[in-house]
Amino acid sequence: MEIALVGIGKIAVDQHVPAIAASPDWELTATVSRHGTVPGVTAYDDFDQMLAERSEVRVVSLCLPPVPRFDYARRAIAAGRHVMLEKPPGATLSECHALEALARRHRVSIYATWHSRQADKVPAAKAWLQDKRLERLTITWREDVRQWHPGQDWVFEAGGLGVFDPGINALSILTEILPDPVHLTGAELHFPENRETPIAATCRFHHPQGAEVTMDLDWLEPGAPTWSIEAVTDAGVLLLEQGGGALSIDGVAQEALPGLSGEYPRLYDQMARLVKTGGSEMDLSPLRHVADAFLLGRRVTAPAFAW
Ligand code: NAP
Repeated sequence: MEIALVGIGKIAVDQHVPAIAASPDWELTATVSRHGTVPGVTAYDDFDQMLAERSEVRVVSLCLPPVPRFDYARRAIAAGRHVMLEKPPGATLSECHALEALARRHRVSIYATWHSRQADKVPAAKAWLQDKRLERLTITWREDVRQWHPGQDWVFEAGGLGVFDPGINALSILTEILPDPVHLTGAELHFPENRETPIAATCRFHHPQGAEVTMDLDWLEPGAPTWSIEAVTDAGVLLLEQGGGALSIDGVAQEALPGLSGEYPRLYDQMARLVKTGGSEMDLSPLRHVADAFLLGRRVTAPAFAW
């Protein structure tokens, strides 16, 4: 199936292009970007022109930052194209609901992807937690923004989510693996005095069985990142590390469940399935938790940030 990639930047080049190239389902035949291109692929800088000229391109994968993404998604759906959205699926919940309704009206598939949910050990973590009683769950998501988002000013502009850009990956795993839904009860958000989004945050959640659920996010962690979720249960301690790439139970390393390997290959495999079956997937729960953090969070002023 022919697919177009929109927003040729870091994640498009690092992950989307190789995943599409390796897939038997997809052929990358157009890109749309103001500056970026992919060698050997017809490049447009005008989205409407691509939509008008390339009717054989039935699927559009949007790799733009969240704020500009809605307008591209809206136009793609109105032109009858199936749409795949990078995380987060939008800058607000309302625009995601609007896109979902629009896709239904135009009878196209829409897929809000959460790449961290596709990490190798997430299904095994989910399976193990199903019949355990949770006592405490601690998310620790700390990385160096200068290493992972070099010079990307949009992450510090309103709508760019700040430290919740990586934090929402943790929330996408949390909402996948826990058998019982949680909701946010409080947060502290540390905003650099010269920026519009937080650079660090702590969050607390209500759990229906009273487990203590917390999240610690930091974007100024030097050296190797920590992307871990520890779940203390009545039957042992689960530790998911490396963003879902490593799993141990009571210190014993666990194998992945069988299946296709790699976060982005799995996303494109699922998109192919959705298009073939006329389905859509639009789970907004990770974004809902982030929105709640911005609603309830107490603002703390942090030192100015410069790249
Ligand atoms: P990026 O490199 O800063 O941006 C991607 C491309 O989008 C840019 O190269 C730019 O291409 C285009 N773009 C930027 N602002 C735009 C605007 N206002 N209007 C139209 N086009 C615009 O960002 P990224 O790191 O790839 O992240 C994109 C999305 O992927 C984000 O939602 C992010 O959360 C998600 N993601 C990122 C990573 C990562 O490691 N960076 C990992 C997983 C997911 P042109 O200048 O050529 O138009």
